[in-house]
Amino acid sequence: MLLSPKLLRLADKVIDSLDFDSSQYLTEESLQRLHDLFPDVLILAALDLIDQRKVTESSTPWGFVEYEVLGSTATHIVHIGLSNTLMSSYCTCPAFNFTVLETGKSLMCKHVLATRLAVRIGLCVKQQISLDYLATSISQRYRPPDNAYTQ
Ligand SMILES: [Zn+2]
Repeated sequence: MLLSPKLLRLADKVIDSLDFDSSQYLTEESLQRLHDLFPDVLILAALDLIDQRKVTESSTPWGFVEYEVLGSTATHIVHIGLSNTLMSSYCTCPAFNFTVLETGKSLMCKHVLATRLAVRIGLCVKQQISLDYLATSISQRYRPPDNAYTQ
């Protein structure tokens, strides 16, 4: 059975309404609400990513925000809060492509859930991207290795 957009909207609402305590742990009741919607393994994997501070929020001075989640083999770009009626989030990982888009077996992958929760709880690693940083990161991609001319 394919998951309906209705269920996804419900999931979005539940995530938006989650409560957490002063140590930024989800309350017992909030965890229960998550368990009603998502499989345990997905919740645990998402919480683990947050614990290990693997969700980064990068923003530019002009207000562009992008999320990155460091996976075991690659960094995935996550988009949340999309104004698409069928999909409010998107992730570049293979699991999202397969279990969400192709087979509709999941509402979201662990990276999307981790990002949604990290944003809600305030546990993203925040990074400001300045013009200098952008210029440096672009020039580094095209720069020969440091020792190319010194030896
Ligand atoms: Zn993903």
